[in-house]
Amino acid sequence: MATEPKTAPQTILVTGASGYIAKHIVLKLLNAGYHVVGSLRSLNRADEVRAAVTPHLDDTSGLDERLRFVVLDLGRDDGWADAMAGVDILMHTASPFPMTQPRNEDDLVRPAVDGALRALRAAHDAGIGRVVMTSSAVAIMEGTLPPGKTAYDEDDWSDLDSPTLNAYGKSKTLAERAAWDFQRDRAPDMALTTINPVLVVGPPLDRHFGTSVALVERFLRAKDPMLPRTGFPFVDVRDVAEMHLRALTCDDARGKRFLASDRALWFADVGQILKAHFPDRKIVTRVAPNFVIRLVGLFDGAVRQIVPNLGRITVVSNDRAKQVLGVEFIPVEQSLVETAEFLLANGVE
Ligand code: NDP
Repeated sequence: MATEPKTAPQTILVTGASGYIAKHIVLKLLNAGYHVVGSLRSLNRADEVRAAVTPHLDDTSGLDERLRFVVLDLGRDDGWADAMAGVDILMHTASPFPMTQPRNEDDLVRPAVDGALRALRAAHDAGIGRVVMTSSAVAIMEGTLPPGKTAYDEDDWSDLDSPTLNAYGKSKTLAERAAWDFQRDRAPDMALTTINPVLVVGPPLDRHFGTSVALVERFLRAKDPMLPRTGFPFVDVRDVAEMHLRALTCDDARGKRFLASDRALWFADVGQILKAHFPDRKIVTRVAPNFVIRLVGLFDGAVRQIVPNLGRITVVSNDRAKQVLGVEFIPVEQSLVETAEFLLANGVE
């Protein structure tokens, strides 16, 4: 599938350019010939983003012109209108994704929802007609699977009352709903696409990786004596970035959501894969009884998040991504091993 822009460089505003996924998106966009404006909460992070992408660029010439930065905060109006100047396309990836859930869910919901609306409103006001937004599979799969279905797909929406929907899941579900509502009611000419990744792994471009890669780090550190009886679907960060890019050149992607997923694994499978590739390392593969995890969850916020999912593993369909965007997903085994190799080469002992 062609990923080259058709005419002379289009400029794309990537919000949250300091993020794990966003750095991969910025890299793909630059290599595909686009110009990128990256938004950061502080320009102090600009060198970090440049340093992360530069070694992987096909061509580093003219980088100062092709990659520049602006300051934007999801919670503040300042700068959004100016940031859209000269921009053709908005890629909205910024959203808080913390390791543990806050006491007050509004700490996540407000920046996610208000930030999405700030981004879309400013883009619309500036006449930008194309938006790709990073949503999440948690906006799709935290509800009851409709009768007759064996996997969640893009027609499904998470149930805001589901006990498995945490504050982060609520923030992503409400932000994506707000984006589609805005597009329908206020910006019908704007073409919106959402990319809805499951848990994202794969080698980061630098050491500033986020919450999802920290899961692999946790396995490598053998922090937990036993594993919970649960699991997730996984996808590689390079595929997620590629989907953002392909959505731009695929007319059929307009107005659609796309689940990004290779396949689901139980935690025990993750442990076995890592143990097989790093036999000299202590990697836990033993599964804990559910009551033990519930107990640990009382004290450990990260563990507490998985308690509602004990005993189940969620399966999502990647048919649309394969059929419409032509994605051939990197096998999760490869993603996990390459993530672990990165972490071991970068200081995880
Ligand atoms: P990161 O935490 O690495 O990136 C999040 C980005 O959002 C950072 O650039 C962060 O800026 C920015 N951000 C957070 N809060 C604000 C705010 N108030 N104002 C401005 N910017 C803000 O996470 P990921 O790269 O993993 O996630 C990127 C996107 O992908 C998010 O929308 C996330 O919900 C989504 N996603 C991620 C998945 C995963 O498994 N990783 C799965 C599904 C969806 P700063 O660096 O300054 O904190």
